[in-house]
Amino acid sequence: LIGFGCSVGLLISFFIGLFLSNRALVPIQRSWEKQEQFVSDASHELRTPLSVIQTHLELLFRHPTNTIEQESTTIYKGLTEVKRLSKLVEDLLTLARTGSNEQLINPEFFSMDELLRNIVEQFEPIADMKDIKMEDEIEGNIIYFGDKERIHQLLVILLDNALKYSVSNDKITIYSYKEGGNLRINIEDTGTGIPEKDLPFIFDRFYRSDKERARATGGTGLGLSIAKWIVEAHGGQISAESRLYEGSQFVIKLPIKNHLSKLT
Ligand code: ADP
Repeated sequence: LIGFGCSVGLLISFFIGLFLSNRALVPIQRSWEKQEQFVSDASHELRTPLSVIQTHLELLFRHPTNTIEQESTTIYKGLTEVKRLSKLVEDLLTLARTGSNEQLINPEFFSMDELLRNIVEQFEPIADMKDIKMEDEIEGNIIYFGDKERIHQLLVILLDNALKYSVSNDKITIYSYKEGGNLRINIEDTGTGIPEKDLPFIFDRFYRSDKERARATGGTGLGLSIAKWIVEAHGGQISAESRLYEGSQFVIKLPIKNHLSKLT
């Protein structure tokens, strides 16, 4: 009887062990599946510009009698894809490194209002060229403790999108002000807007609401996932609201309370 009791006990502990180890493996397997999905999406995305470049080079090689105009058009199209490809590789590298243990945030104290104003100045000529109005309301004297380069990258991603998905006579507005313990930055545009069904997914890697349109604008579908990572690495939150054909609003909330108290 004692022997039987022992075997039952052993059997039960074996199944409990099996159950627990399976449960422990689930997150590892999920992360592995995510990684696999990332590699497969990345390869797919890299293949597209590469084959376009190959086609254009073959055109140049096979038709040496083309006129200069025809050749420059082919070269221009090839170059556009080269630019897309290097942007894609750069974005992929950033995202791949976020998964490693590397120290990617190097915080320092800097003037957030100065950074915002510099970026607005940097984008104004591009907006002018597209006949898009740019306005800003930036609260002064905001000293922020964070990675200046990354915050710059975050704002460039959002403003770049606002410009990409706006047309002539649209308007982009940047607000920045303190709200409770947070610094709030709003980037609004009156551009094309995002379909309701796509809105929950726009921060996902490689997600583009309209692949062809995004391709035409040089998009990679990685910008917003990088933006989300930067905001979260600073302990903040990012969200989006949008109405199709009316425009979009991206809201960033970055905690500043602790950072400021460190100064005083
Ligand atoms: P992409 O490189 O394609 O712009 P993002 O990750 O930056 O990739 O954005 C994901 C998708 O979200 C875009 O393809 C686009 O469909 C949509 N999107 C992002 N920002 C805007 C915006 N300001 N207006 C309209 N659509 C936007």
